Amino acid sequence: MTEYRVYALCYGHRTGTRGQHFLGCDEHEWNQPHPTAYYVWLAVSDNHTVLVDAGIRPERAGELDSYEPPAKVLSEFGVPATAVNRLVLTHLHYDHAGTVADFPHARYVVQRQEYEYWTGPWARRITREQWLLDGEALEFLGNAGQRLDFVDGDLEILPGLSVHLVGGHTAGMQVVRVATAAGPVVLASDAAHFAENLEDDRPAPLVHTMTGMYGAFDRVKELAGPGGRYLPGHDPVVLDRFPAEVPGRVVRVA
Ligand SMILES: [Zn+2]
Repeated sequence: MTEYRVYALCYGHRTGTRGQHFLGCDEHEWNQPHPTAYYVWLAVSDNHTVLVDAGIRPERAGELDSYEPPAKVLSEFGVPATAVNRLVLTHLHYDHAGTVADFPHARYVVQRQEYEYWTGPWARRITREQWLLDGEALEFLGNAGQRLDFVDGDLEILPGLSVHLVGGHTAGMQVVRVATAAGPVVLASDAAHFAENLEDDRPAPLVHTMTGMYGAFDRVKELAGPGGRYLPGHDPVVLDRFPAEVPGRVVRVA
């Protein structure tokens, strides 16, 4: 069986508030500062270099306290952007799809449902979702032609690496399961922004459907299996929990 080495690459930080990240905050909890990290994830086998998500474009990184373009973090780790041959987009929010144009040899993998939602009639009418869109990234994908692979549901896109439609956070949110020597690792991305969202069964307020969000929690646990590992999308704890490859930037997860 093909096994991958899996890394989390942190390209930025911001101090948010707990109210932005947890439903049901009272007034006191709402304003408490809540450190937030921004990641892309890398899965490497003998034959493939797979990047999961593309992060924020520099033009939209102004709200962050620290930022480096994801391709730069990757190259500092020794992986040039040209080496990436698959770029899986968990969803099309601006902080996950922004730098798609920086990976010239990648095939892009996105759920059809996700792409159709953001290019269709609804997203542009729903004010609370409009700001999450990156029009340039979407336009780039629209022109990617043969390099854009749509998935409907669950699919093993490479031996040992599969995508799974979960919805909830967005219309076509997908998570990625990767086979490693230490067992499966699930890259949950924003299906669980923080470990606390999933562990306390408490979604973030930014949701497409609430039922989908809870369903996604269950699916992430199921895919990770007993004692399995999953990586939340924005939790700074990931940087402390795993051995550093580049201090403060890159950790090896498995
Ligand atoms: Zn998101």
